[in-house]
Amino acid sequence: MNIKAVQKICYGMYVISSKKDDKINGQIANTLFQITSDPPTVAVSINKQNLTHEYITTSKTFTASIISKEAPMNFIGNWGFKSGRDIDKFKDANFRAGKVTGVPIVLDYATGYLECEVLSSTDVGTHTIFIGKVVDCEVLSDAEPMTYSYYRQIKGGKSPKTAPTYVKEESTAVGATGDKYKCTVCGYIYDPQNGDPDSGIKAGTKFEDLPDTWVCPVCGAPKSEFEKEG
Ligand code: FE
Repeated sequence: MNIKAVQKICYGMYVISSKKDDKINGQIANTLFQITSDPPTVAVSINKQNLTHEYITTSKTFTASIISKEAPMNFIGNWGFKSGRDIDKFKDANFRAGKVTGVPIVLDYATGYLECEVLSSTDVGTHTIFIGKVVDCEVLSDAEPMTYSYYRQIKGGKSPKTAPTYVKEESTAVGATGDKYKCTVCGYIYDPQNGDPDSGIKAGTKFEDLPDTWVCPVCGAPKSEFEKEG
């Protein structure tokens, strides 16, 4: 059995938000999909360790912002690799409250959104699958939605360990333009063949040649937190 086969499954990228009393939180999820069209329902799989899981369980509501390809890595980093227990992820976000549920809807880089009320949930061990009825939704732009494979291949993105799609990977080493370096905080791989276009680093730039002010585009860790791959 080659577990890498599951990486052939296609997904999008979403910010799933919820609330608990007057507290709000959100996180990245790629495991959202439509189940029925009449009435419109969707399912999303959320890790039980995540704060958003606690909020959805309590309020029985969530929103999903559909992320466009234009979203930079630090946007994914804020929502996907940090915990609302440590920081206020909404601090610098553009968002508004959903009309029906009052749950925040993240508007940054969102090409559309869904506002949902939980109809049922299924315990699947590490995660819960929440099935939500879409009670409001809107298209926000014509921008192309980001797929999970685009995030992985073009943006060099990884899954945090709490994601349903996390697969432990063996290190890959050395390209023509120098070694790859891995962020020990979030797992992001700096590949000199890709550079870091979001931060103005051209393709072909060796890790050693990155400015000292450069930080991990996903989690913000400094260069000193990186180690050579392989
Ligand atoms: Fe990082």
